[in-house]
Amino acid sequence: MEDCIFCKIIRGEIPSIKVYEDDEILAFNDVNPAAPIHILVIPKKHINSLADMKPEDEKLVGKIYGVINKIAEDKGFKDEGFRVIVNCGKNGGQEVMHLHFHILAGKQLGEKIV
Ligand code: AMP
Repeated sequence: MEDCIFCKIIRGEIPSIKVYEDDEILAFNDVNPAAPIHILVIPKKHINSLADMKPEDEKLVGKIYGVINKIAEDKGFKDEGFRVIVNCGKNGGQEVMHLHFHILAGKQLGEKIV
């Protein structure tokens, strides 16, 4: 997607601090962290939102959860715990229309909604 900022990050047109990368998935630090550790994990394939994923994307999304666990292990916050958030669409507060998984860690997180 030409104008998608996360696609630009994938292409290296916008700088990012990369945490993990393979042929299908990229993870990088959120530019406006909401916790001491705030990492975004995205598929390299452009999918607008969770609501736009197709049945053929299910394997990829499952792999993303595996990558999230790997990052938690590698960065040393797996045992302390962390939160994964996917904002979806207008009511979900999604601002960047490229499916992404927020990993928040490094402190006791507040504002628990569910
Ligand atoms: P959401 O509200 O779920 O769409 O989250 C979008 C996230 O992308 C926000 O937490 C932003 O801080 C983050 N973000 C936006 N632009 C960039 C960027 N260039 N590099 C890293 N994170 C970004």
